[in-house]
Amino acid sequence: MKEYDYKTDAWVQWCPGCGNYGVLSALRKALAELKIDPKKLVIVSGIGCSSRIVYYIRGSNVHTVHGRAIPVASGIKLANPGLTVLVAGGDGDILGIGAGHFVALGRRNIDLKVLIHDNAVYGLTKGQAGPTLPSGVKLRAMNYANIHEAVNPLLLALASGYAFIARAFAYHVKELKEIIKEAILHRGSAVVDILQPCVTYNDLMTREWFEKRIYYLESPPNESELLQRMKEVDRIPLGMFYKAEKETFDQKMALMVGKNKDLKT
Ligand code: SF4
Repeated sequence: MKEYDYKTDAWVQWCPGCGNYGVLSALRKALAELKIDPKKLVIVSGIGCSSRIVYYIRGSNVHTVHGRAIPVASGIKLANPGLTVLVAGGDGDILGIGAGHFVALGRRNIDLKVLIHDNAVYGLTKGQAGPTLPSGVKLRAMNYANIHEAVNPLLLALASGYAFIARAFAYHVKELKEIIKEAILHRGSAVVDILQPCVTYNDLMTREWFEKRIYYLESPPNESELLQRMKEVDRIPLGMFYKAEKETFDQKMALMVGKNKDLKT
């Protein structure tokens, strides 16, 4: 399979230079290298600029309602364990209205991969503060500085029980592709926080702003420095933060059903 095999005829409706293009390219390349049959691929999204990605990749994809991609994807995966099921959405969709579902997925450990297009704004609705925008920051389309504290997606994922937590940069397509491949191959819930500029509304976190701050972890931090690395803000680490093997939801269910059978006999 080639990246081209995952293209659709849909017109890509993102602003020129948007970080979503990097994610789209990396995801197509990852799917091609893993030879995932588009007939066995489902990408589920909620609402937001990035959620349109479901139209641009061949698969049996679903564009669902705001914040509800994870529960829809969970049902699809549990009913069809042979499918590769991904969730794609912005930080507003997944960590704002969808935050409860994000936490529930970490606790359940269903075999889904969550790609957070993290640009710290609600781009589709004209640039309001998103959940990951730091407090005190005022962007182009905002009347006042943000008065909310920011959500840290990595810390929330860790606290929720995710056993695969990584961060990437949308314009580093090769590195992002490798992380996405690793997430797809991991058995269980995986989250990739993808930092990406919104060139239209986020006039602080530009490509140059990120490039001055990002650096790559050589390996996942050990337990004593994991929280410190996840909390870093002046310099921004990228790469794998945490990866562990844990029993998945379907394995636990199979065990429970088996035990109940024993009780009946
Ligand atoms: Fe991308 Fe921002 Fe344009 Fe939306 S508004 S397509 S996030 S650049």
